[in-house]
Amino acid sequence: MVRVAAAEQLTELEAFAREVAGCTRCRLSEGRTQVVFGVGNPAADLMFVGEGPGFHEDKQGIPFVGQAGKLLDKLLGGIGLDRNDVYIANIVKCRPPGNRDPVPDEKEACEPYLFRQIELIQPKVIASLGNHATKQLSGKDVGITRIHGREQQIQLGSRAVLLYPLYHPAAALYTPAMLNVLEEDFARLPELIGRPEAEAAPAFAPEPEPAAAAAEPAVQLGLF
Ligand code: URA
Ligand code: SF4
Repeated sequence: MVRVAAAEQLTELEAFAREVAGCTRCRLSEGRTQVVFGVGNPAADLMFVGEGPGFHEDKQGIPFVGQAGKLLDKLLGGIGLDRNDVYIANIVKCRPPGNRDPVPDEKEACEPYLFRQIELIQPKVIASLGNHATKQLSGKDVGITRIHGREQQIQLGSRAVLLYPLYHPAAALYTPAMLNVLEEDFARLPELIGRPEAEAAPAFAPEPEPAAAAAEPAVQLGLF
């Protein structure tokens, strides 16, 4: 039964990947080698969302294959998982030139693809890696330094998902203190994945940061 469901999902996700492969919805299509759609278990309980492909990801068509990806693999190994157990995707699916940050209209243009992936995969936990993914998925302009390691329930379409913000592995690579925090936060993932969905933690509602007032969640724009 489960295998049949997984196979059906794989087919749909694969068909969707093929659709997205020709996307020209934003300017990032101009400089890319290929769309980096996502990789992993199409029925994963745990999904990671990063920022966007870098040099190596753009060449290989696979997310997180560079240095940050090696760290992600190591962190996964530390909790007894590998990348076949999870699904890994990014906020934007094409490499921004020179690895610059993706800009708002690019993130907006690409967002429906991420939401469709989430809808098809139906993860229990989405670990957002770094500021871009965390702000995009939480719909709040709260920085990762304040919010990392604090799970919150978000509503995506008709489903509640546990969002778990983490430092971006690329940021932790060269900052040992950040790496320690990332490892500690990672260590809670098995518990979060194992949580019965009804018992998921209530939404974390921090005080707004002073500069945060205007940022309105693309997530609430009704993409489902
Ligand atoms: N950093 C990201 O955010 N995503 C990747 O795919 C690789 C590095
Ligand atoms: Fe399309 Fe997303 Fe690539 Fe922009 S980044 S061209 S929206 S797939």
